[in-house]
Amino acid sequence: MINYQNVSVSFGKFNVLHDINFHLKKGDFLHIVGPNGSGKTTLVKLLIGLLKPTSGEILMNQNMQMGYLPQKLNSKINLPMTVCEVIYSGFKKQRLSPSKADKKLIESWLNTMEIPQLLHASMHYLSGGQQQRVFLIRALISNPDLLILDEPTSALDPSFREKFYHLLYDLHQERNMTIIHVTHDLTDAVKENCLTMYVDQTIKFFGSYQDFQEFEHRGHHHV
Ligand code: ADP
Repeated sequence: MINYQNVSVSFGKFNVLHDINFHLKKGDFLHIVGPNGSGKTTLVKLLIGLLKPTSGEILMNQNMQMGYLPQKLNSKINLPMTVCEVIYSGFKKQRLSPSKADKKLIESWLNTMEIPQLLHASMHYLSGGQQQRVFLIRALISNPDLLILDEPTSALDPSFREKFYHLLYDLHQERNMTIIHVTHDLTDAVKENCLTMYVDQTIKFFGSYQDFQEFEHRGHHHV
């Protein structure tokens, strides 16, 4: 489904990623960890087309529907849009305004994310955590084949964080969604059958979570 072949990325003389090789199958759930500035965000931005590799190539299914939650939503964004408008912009196709069915779907997601009262609120007035929930809904609402989450829980409080990961595993199981999750708090997020990648300019580890624990024992730390 996704295949990175000898991918490198440089910004000017600064080589951020080199020799990136891995592939994912449909239904894989991958957690990406690594130190700050190690290239995790760069690695996922390549998938969405926000960046091009300096060398190497990325092969992937052409008609894949993607949902993306970008990083850095823990600082508030001043967006002159309502919650409903932001979420509607995540639909595959838009009309001038959402249909009744679209609105129902948006409302049910707002309920799931425990912010039903915010449908018509302006993004401007939301807290960082509320904004993050709205952007999560936006990433999920079109039922993507591939979901890419870059530190999705950074602004969420711990109890909701737990709920969010439950939701994610349900989606993964029920819809066989492929998920790539960049995180700092692997302990909250991981389950036994997940894939784990440790990135530090290149892939230092890629495999099962069990094997990753071995790798960490040998003296590597992910934060
Ligand atoms: P991580 O997500 O692991 O914290 P990033 O992929 O965001 O790391 O960044 C990796 C490195 O690349 C950082 O040192 C960052 O400053 C640098 N970098 C990221 N984007 C750019 C850019 N557009 N231009 C120059 N340097 C960049």
